[in-house]
Amino acid sequence: MAISTKQAQLTVQKLRHPVKARLLQVRRKAQITPYLVRVTLTGDDLDGFVSPSFDDHVRLFLPPVPGEKPVMPTVSEQGLVYPEGQPRPVLRDYTPRRYDSEAGELDIDFVLHGHNGRAASWASAAHEGHYVGIGGPRGSFVIPCDYAWHLLVGDETAMPAIGRRLAELPRGKRVLAIIETEHPNARLNFETRADVTLQWVQGVAGQADGMSPLERVIHRLQLPDGDGYVWAAGEHSSIRAIHQHLVNERGLDKSRIRAVSYWRHTAGEGHEVFGD
Ligand SMILES: Cc1cc2nc3c(=O)[nH]c(=O)nc-3n(C[C@H](O)[C@H](O)[C@H](O)COP(=O)(O)OP(=O)(O)OC[C@H]3O[C@@H](n4cnc5c(N)ncnc54)[C@H](O)[C@@H]3O)c2cc1C
Repeated sequence: MAISTKQAQLTVQKLRHPVKARLLQVRRKAQITPYLVRVTLTGDDLDGFVSPSFDDHVRLFLPPVPGEKPVMPTVSEQGLVYPEGQPRPVLRDYTPRRYDSEAGELDIDFVLHGHNGRAASWASAAHEGHYVGIGGPRGSFVIPCDYAWHLLVGDETAMPAIGRRLAELPRGKRVLAIIETEHPNARLNFETRADVTLQWVQGVAGQADGMSPLERVIHRLQLPDGDGYVWAAGEHSSIRAIHQHLVNERGLDKSRIRAVSYWRHTAGEGHEVFGD
């Protein structure tokens, strides 16, 4: 049976992109809040860069010391190959916050989380001319704008993706964005034409109920009627719990939620897509 036009409009698209490793340089840096720095990257290697979804990420190749060039991989059929006998770059995932092909600029927003992370420290120290490599996006998960409503949930690491989504959604689109920050002055103003209700959440995790502040708000939230889509990203256990709650306890259709771990309190790979 042919799928209806409405169903087609609400179907997410999974795109693959050719992988390329690009060596870029810092063009400028802006302190957006005391806890967020925006680094604008440029370079001839940016030619042909694509990022069709706010949910995209690039993998950063960070040098051992800010200012030095990172050791760059080459792309082979087996994936990325690093030159032998040289220290591998530190790898971290970040959201392409804004790409301007005319200006040849890519913005990446770094949360300065204060835990001596290599990426956060690199961004803190970044100066015009400093080098960084990027790979990807390898693929894009494109969530249609046509849903009746959008719920965007996340912590500070998700603000670049949420900010980009709010900038890209069409005029009047109904959006509820719920964002947890550790400090009140980590909050941002977002540019948008959408009809946005923005709820900031602050609080201490690990209280008697064992929930993150974000989880607590989601537990109390009544989802709007109609065909909507939930996008959530942030700390691993918080986002996993939000995904489980909405799908298992509230009966949200699994095809109507994208929930992604962006980092972990404990050491280890932070990136995980729940329910995949
Ligand atoms: C798909 C994807 C997109 C992402 N997009 C962005 C983005 O646009 N901007 C952004 O800032 N981050 C983003 N992140 C999260 C970012 O990759 C992680 O926070 C990463 O761990 C930071 O690397 P680091 O080298 O600074 O710290 P790490 O060396 O990885 O960690 C050092 C210590 O800091 C802790 N830590 C790491 N991140 C945080 C945090 N946010 N808050 C508190 N403690 C933390 C770790 O638990 C560890 O103890 C994204 C992650 C993914 C998977």
